Amino acid sequence: MRLRNVKGSRETIAANDYVVHNETGMKGHWHELFDNDNPIHIEIGMGKGQFIMELARRNPDINYIGIEKYSSVLVRALEKRELGPEMTNLYFIRMDAEYITDVFDTNEVDRIYLNFSDPWPKDRHAKRRLTSTHFLGLYDQLLAPEGRVIFKTDNRGLFDFSLEQVPEAGWILENYTYDLHNSEYNEGNIMTEYETKFSAMGTPINRLVAYREK
Ligand code: SAM
Repeated sequence: MRLRNVKGSRETIAANDYVVHNETGMKGHWHELFDNDNPIHIEIGMGKGQFIMELARRNPDINYIGIEKYSSVLVRALEKRELGPEMTNLYFIRMDAEYITDVFDTNEVDRIYLNFSDPWPKDRHAKRRLTSTHFLGLYDQLLAPEGRVIFKTDNRGLFDFSLEQVPEAGWILENYTYDLHNSEYNEGNIMTEYETKFSAMGTPINRLVAYREK
């Protein structure tokens, strides 16, 4: 998702207290920002933020950080947040996930959500897929021992690729389904913007949970 340049989005983001601007300086210090020792869950590529905002609302004892690459998209999440309830357990970062290990320290993150990540269909771009062995190797550096990566997508090609990448990276597949909404894993599921759109069209939603033995 890359929305047309939204006028003033950079300025709006710069002035927003819930966007962390010194993200590399926070490495190893995220608990100080939240002022508690609650677990930290992040979503990479949160888009307009529907999923993470609802998660944060339902789970005040978990700290959430939503990461989005584009200002034009993040600004939409900020607008949505303004309309919702006040929450102190949710912050945002505008950044490319490629630099995630500059931002989070070893064991600092307890869960990583990847929702409807860009498929990068060309073989030569496979490394850019957020479930590639390259990215799993980065997540390994920040994920706590009991940590999990939870990935949802409508894209069967990307999902099959991800199912292969998990063991190739030395990770373990905890569970997976090709039809989340008709599975035992659907209880408590929070729909993302893309999930709402694709499931309305009748497309089944794939989901996997992966971890590595530490
Ligand atoms: N997660 C949302 C949903 O399910 O509705 C948005 C899905 S959209 C297809 C993918 C989002 O991931 C886009 O907003 C895109 O800008 C963001 N994204 C893609 N690659 C990224 C990266 N390397 N780092 C951070 N965000 C990224």
